[in-house]
Amino acid sequence: MRRKINVMLVSVAGTAILLTLLLVTVVCYDLFRKQVFEDLRVYTKFFDMLGKEGIPADWKMIHKYSGGNLRITIVQRDGTVLFDTRAVAANLDNHGNRTEIKEAFEKGFGKSVRKSPTYHRSTFYYARRLDADTVLRISREAAGILGIFFGVLPVLALIAAVLFAVCMLTARFLTKKLLAPIGRLADQLDSGGEADTYRELQPFVQTIRRQHEAILQSARMRQDFTANVSHELKTPLTAISGYAELIESGLAQEKDIVHFASEIQRSSKRLLTLINDIIRLSELDIIRDDIVFEKIDLSEIAQVCVDMLQINAEKHNVTATFSGAPCFVNANHDMMEELLYNLTGNAIRYNRSGGSVAVEVEQAGDEIILSVRDTGIGIPKEHQERIFERFYRVDKSRSKSTGGTGLGLAIVKHIVEKHGARMVLTSEPGEGTEIRVYFAAAEPRQ
Ligand code: ADP
Repeated sequence: MRRKINVMLVSVAGTAILLTLLLVTVVCYDLFRKQVFEDLRVYTKFFDMLGKEGIPADWKMIHKYSGGNLRITIVQRDGTVLFDTRAVAANLDNHGNRTEIKEAFEKGFGKSVRKSPTYHRSTFYYARRLDADTVLRISREAAGILGIFFGVLPVLALIAAVLFAVCMLTARFLTKKLLAPIGRLADQLDSGGEADTYRELQPFVQTIRRQHEAILQSARMRQDFTANVSHELKTPLTAISGYAELIESGLAQEKDIVHFASEIQRSSKRLLTLINDIIRLSELDIIRDDIVFEKIDLSEIAQVCVDMLQINAEKHNVTATFSGAPCFVNANHDMMEELLYNLTGNAIRYNRSGGSVAVEVEQAGDEIILSVRDTGIGIPKEHQERIFERFYRVDKSRSKSTGGTGLGLAIVKHIVEKHGARMVLTSEPGEGTEIRVYFAAAEPRQ
């Protein structure tokens, strides 16, 4: 980066120097040209004083004062050369179509520049109308633009080299100064507060800090999760191992063995459920892009789910009902089943005897609302935010006795996020709970 900025600054400076020098040459040439014409104009005035007849006789004196490099020509309106200081007038071709002559006959004076046969030199012509029929023209050879350019080239090159060297040093210094705050940034990323860097980089610093924080938090959560998993697995495994040991040692009496075996089975089932939920969660944790989303009728899945959980509901002396018309969402079928089983299952498990569960699916505008409402024990305010965390339970013994793992709502939360849906919980202890999930409708309301 440092090298790149340096190279860029130096190239900008280099281009600017070259362009400036070229422009200076052009401006100088223009001034020079004007000066040459001005000189020629002044001479024509002197000759004008001599008059048409006086010029051929007396021109030599003015010519001498001018440095001796003037050419004087007198041309008639028809283009015939009457007099010329360089050649015999009769030998010269018709001058009627020379730009400066034509201009002079038209408006009193005329000028033009033509390339000389001499290398990088030009001839400057200035013509002045003496009377209606004659024009006096004075010309001289001088350096052309290239001549001037090559003439001053050594000086220009020297100036350019000095400027370039100064620019290079400045560019190096500026690059260093420019990059210093970025260099310091690396050390300041970890410390809080405003980083001592460019204002434009502050959002970038904030993003990195946020990501940093998120990574740390995620690492912490992972650690907590691993600790929780080990702890959760330990309980049923200890029970299994304990009962098996009792049977093995022969300490268990015949009548206890059946009970111990059923305890072993219960703990194994719990272990399996736990492991299944853990696997499910880690599957959901992985960001995958091969999840199949299809247009499905949420009410159909909800209906099937309520039907399947009827036995469970009866066991808890709870009535579970479904209501709703076909409502289509773009979703993964298995995930929707999982979501409904978890929410409805909880509504049954955390209910009271004689209570009810109502599952509803309805369309409201562009949204499909899935609502699972129960008349159960409710969730105290202080727990409401946290129940979606992994292994968080309000009443641990109730959760365990009804086969809960503390992972159901964490799975639900994941599924909701994966579907771009949102979830709203309303609950009143002793009265009941409602969880609403808002999905985008797969087709607009007819
Ligand atoms: P669990 O397997 O323990 O049910 P969940 O993640 O499904 O785990 O739920 C977390 C906790 O939230 C539960 O332990 C329970 O305390 C509370 N909870 C969930 N759903 C309800 C509900 N419908 N009514 C009351 N409490 C609930």
